[in-house]
Amino acid sequence: MVIDFHHHLFNRDWLPQKFWSDLVQRAVNVRRLNGQEADPDAIARGMSEMFEDQNGDRLAADMDEAGIAYTLIMPLDLGLELGECPVSMEEKTRLIVEVTGRHPGKIGSFFGIDPRRAGGVELFDRAVRQWGMKGLKLDPAAGFYPNERLVYPYYEKACELGVPVLLHTGVAIPPFRNKYTDPIYLDDVTLDFPELTVVAAHASFGWWQQLAFLISKKTNLVTDISGWQPLATRDYGLFCRYLREMISIAGAPNILFASDGPAFNLYDMRNQWWAGLFRDLPDKAPAGLTFTREEVDLILYQNAQRILGPVGEG
Ligand SMILES: [Zn+2]
Repeated sequence: MVIDFHHHLFNRDWLPQKFWSDLVQRAVNVRRLNGQEADPDAIARGMSEMFEDQNGDRLAADMDEAGIAYTLIMPLDLGLELGECPVSMEEKTRLIVEVTGRHPGKIGSFFGIDPRRAGGVELFDRAVRQWGMKGLKLDPAAGFYPNERLVYPYYEKACELGVPVLLHTGVAIPPFRNKYTDPIYLDDVTLDFPELTVVAAHASFGWWQQLAFLISKKTNLVTDISGWQPLATRDYGLFCRYLREMISIAGAPNILFASDGPAFNLYDMRNQWWAGLFRDLPDKAPAGLTFTREEVDLILYQNAQRILGPVGEG
């Protein structure tokens, strides 16, 4: 079984205009690094068509193609940093609840908010208790530190509700500032809220070793491996070596399979390939590297079920 712990819905009106123009730039960079064709106009034209998914049916079809049993949507609230988008945060939450209601047992969601907005804690409470959302997504790259006091009421609420918090960590794409995304700020959070499960998204990319060692000293910090597809495409051996080191330092029980899709469809790095890469690790790892089936099963779904409860069982 496979559970994707971190995915998005990229509907045009759900995200700021600046997000889209920066995504084109990002796609050009990634495609060039990978030796693929990169025409900005063609990418911009194809993007909406590729991503538009108001009811989650496209995501569900992608999951079927990839053999993914359960996916968590991580809503993005970037309006305070990039300019507000046509759909408000409250409205977006309502629309995502419709999506998860249409795909029960298959697509779930966290509640996402910029903690600088007013009234967010109450909405978070309702999102979990009434609408069945599974946790809280925060994106410090939008302009705050995870250990700022203004975020603490959200951690208190997450503890009260018994749900995990996922935060973007690691080198962020422009225009976001990397000073906010260093995993060191999760040290305070995990110490001040020992009963809270904190998920550092993206294995903190460039800070992955620091994160892995932090995780190894704690019982309430885990990570997801989303967003590493470009490196795995460019240099499969290097990716496997980093992953092996990550598992050896942080422990397989603390690493979650995730994609951060659908952005990677832009680069032809589909989830069918990404999930398959992990499934095949015990048999197809590069010479000198070993991954056990037990480690891979923990990463692919068992850790997610430990954190979320019994999801993905149909
Ligand atoms: Zn993401």
